[in-house]
Amino acid sequence: MGKNYRAELVGVFGDPVDGNPTGVMEEAGFAAKGLNYRYITMKVTPDGFDDAMKGLRAMNMKGINLTMPHKIKVLPYLDEISPAAKIIGAVNTVNVENGKLYGDNTDGRGFVQALKNEGVTSSGKNVVILGAGGAAKAIAVECALAGASRITIINRSEEHAKELAETVNQYTDAKAEYLIWQPAQKIPQGTDILINGTPIGLHPNTEERPDIDYDTINQEMIVSDVVFNPAETLFLKAAAEKGAKTISGLGMLVCQGALNFTIWTGEEAPYDAMYEKLKSEFEI
Ligand code: NDP
Repeated sequence: MGKNYRAELVGVFGDPVDGNPTGVMEEAGFAAKGLNYRYITMKVTPDGFDDAMKGLRAMNMKGINLTMPHKIKVLPYLDEISPAAKIIGAVNTVNVENGKLYGDNTDGRGFVQALKNEGVTSSGKNVVILGAGGAAKAIAVECALAGASRITIINRSEEHAKELAETVNQYTDAKAEYLIWQPAQKIPQGTDILINGTPIGLHPNTEERPDIDYDTINQEMIVSDVVFNPAETLFLKAAAEKGAKTISGLGMLVCQGALNFTIWTGEEAPYDAMYEKLKSEFEI
C-alpha cells in the first residue's frame, strides 16, 4: 500500500483555552493546502504541564502553541530559542525538528505584519502601548526591532512598565520610557501608533474600554487593539470616532497564526483562507 495515514500533530496548551479560536484558522489553512495536519486545542493546567510536554515528545508532535499560563513556564524545556523570544522572555510557538524543541514568539511579529498589511510600518514611529504584560512586551520588542524610534509604555503597575522599558532600551535601538497609568490618561502628543495591549474589552466584558482621554486621539494616529473578541472593541470604536485609522486584534491573530503555519509546515500560509475562516467564526 505505502500510504501514510499518520497525521502531523500540532495544537495549543493553555488554561483557560476553550475560547481560543486558533485551531479553526490553522485547520482551514491545512485544508486549503491539502496537508495532513491536525490542530488540537488542549486544556493543560500548570500541574499537568510537565506531563503534557513529555506527551508532546512521546506522540512525536510537530509543534505546539503555548498560551496562558505557559508561555514562560515552557522556557526550560526548550533546546533553542529565537533571539526575539529570548528578549521577550516568553515563547508562544514550539517547533520540533529531529527531536529538538525550538521556541519562538510570533505574537509581536504578527502584530508588525498586521500593520504592514494595512500599509503601516513601525519604522521611525512613536509607539504608545497600554499595558506591559505578555502581549504588550512582544509588541514593544518587535516594533522596536522593526525600527520604531520611541516606545512609551503606559501601565498601572510601575514594576512591569519599568521592566519592559528597560528591556527595550537594553536590547534595541529604540528609546523607551514609561508612564504610570492615570485616570483618564492623556495620550502623549506626537503619538503615531497607539495600541491597547491589555485585556480590557475582551468578551464578556465588552462594555469596558481603557480609561484614557479619548479627546487626545486624533486623525493622524493609527489605533490598534490586541483584543480580538469582539473584533470591534469599544476602544477601537471610540478611536474611529476621533478620525483615527483602526486595526483590529484579528489582524494580529491571523498574522501570528500564519507565521506558526509556516514554522510547522515549511510552506507559505494560505493567509486569505485562514482570515476568511476567522472572520466567519466571528460573524464579520
Ligand atoms: P497579561 O496578563 O500578561 O497582561 C495584562 C496587562 O494588562 C498587564 O500589563 C496589566 O497591568 C494590564 N491590565 C489588565 N487589566 C487591567 C485593567 N483593568 N486596567 C489597567 N491595566 C490592566 O495578558 P496578555 O498580555 O497575555 O494578554 C493581554 C490580551 O492580549 C488578552 O486579551 C489576550 O487575549 C490578547 N492577545 C491577543 C493576541 C492576538 O493575536 N490578537 C495575541 C496574544 C494576546 P499590570 O501590569 O498592572 O497587571
